Amino acid sequence: MKQFYLKQFPNEEGYFGKFGGSFVPESIQKAMQEIDAAYNLIAQNSDFIAELRKIRKHFQGRPTPIYFAHNLTREYKGAGIYLKREDLNHTGAHKLNHCMGEALLAKFMGKKKLIAETGAGQHGVALATAAAYFGLECEIHMGEVDIAKEHPNVVRMKILGAKVIPVSFGAKTLKEAVDSAFQSYLKDPHNAMYAIGSVVGPHPFPKIVRDFQSIVGIESKEQFLEMTGELPDIVIACVGGGSNAMGIFSGFIDDSVELVGVEPLGRGEKLGENAATLSYGEEGVMHGFNSIMLKDSKGEPASVYSIASGLDYPSVGPEHAYLHSIGRTKVATILDKEAIAAFYLLSKKEGIIPAIESSHALAYALKIAPNLKGKKILINLSGRGDKDIDFIANTYGYGEVY
Ligand SMILES: *Cc1c(COP(=O)(O)O)cnc(C)c1O
Repeated sequence: MKQFYLKQFPNEEGYFGKFGGSFVPESIQKAMQEIDAAYNLIAQNSDFIAELRKIRKHFQGRPTPIYFAHNLTREYKGAGIYLKREDLNHTGAHKLNHCMGEALLAKFMGKKKLIAETGAGQHGVALATAAAYFGLECEIHMGEVDIAKEHPNVVRMKILGAKVIPVSFGAKTLKEAVDSAFQSYLKDPHNAMYAIGSVVGPHPFPKIVRDFQSIVGIESKEQFLEMTGELPDIVIACVGGGSNAMGIFSGFIDDSVELVGVEPLGRGEKLGENAATLSYGEEGVMHGFNSIMLKDSKGEPASVYSIASGLDYPSVGPEHAYLHSIGRTKVATILDKEAIAAFYLLSKKEGIIPAIESSHALAYALKIAPNLKGKKILINLSGRGDKDIDFIANTYGYGEVY
């Protein structure tokens, strides 16, 4: 399998082992096949690749650096702690990596409009940014709970010219926003392109988003080798749908590097109190793909919870389900309160305010670092925390104890 993992998975029907696929009505199936065919065509096209490279360098500000967290490393007296700084990617998170790719694909296909859901608002902001860049219309569906919690991102989307559609049914969070966005897309698949926010959804989205995010892994491997002369021992990323994790994991998947996905344990292990899908879920189909999901007593997607809106999802990318099932990746969990502690620590000790999502990955790294002297840990710092500061300061204060 060496060196060939990314080329082998998914197969032509979009399967990673038994996970993935496309469970959608006939009418959408056709639209999905068109997107897949267009993507396969442009992925080989040197003009498309050159255009994407130019955008990454001059618009997004890539490559993002790897930073050696010297203060935390000294304080924890164990493994070296390194951060891949996706918080420095334009718009403040890794999501623009796949949004620029998806929008370029939409442009290539002659689409006029981008439609998507958003949780924390990060995907909405990234897609609205991409839409502005390419001169496309943009419609973002967002749960009312998240709209209240992530106000600055809502304002950003509107300033960028996107239409924000509040979703007021069910738990009013990410899962309902996906349903709502999909319904809107169904009305006009000819002129619109659905631009999903993670490595989830029906084939070909998990593949497309993974491929666009793989730039994080490619850069990380090169930069880490240049910095330290070797590969990291452990790579850690938070997992909501799983795009930032797949992005960085994909660079190391054929190497002997431990890969750990960190899921949100929220307030605890009880169903409804967390969104730790791989840890507690079971196989099932949701939003058009087969994966591991958290189900309620009726077998429907459970309502889930995390302090991090971006991790608040009852399923997970099918590639994560597969990699976990074959033992290639490990899964860990982090409570809200552990993520909050990590949020304050990185802010005060290194001068970097992380997204509360990314704080989950950091919290797990800080947990294991003291016992791993001589090892090196690379964390994907998926985003910056500006969007979270008001909520955290109002709820928990300024973290004076850290
Ligand atoms: C959306 C988001 C996540 C979670 O999404 P993945 O697809 O699991 O990466 C993580 N971190 C940040 C900063 C986000 O905005």
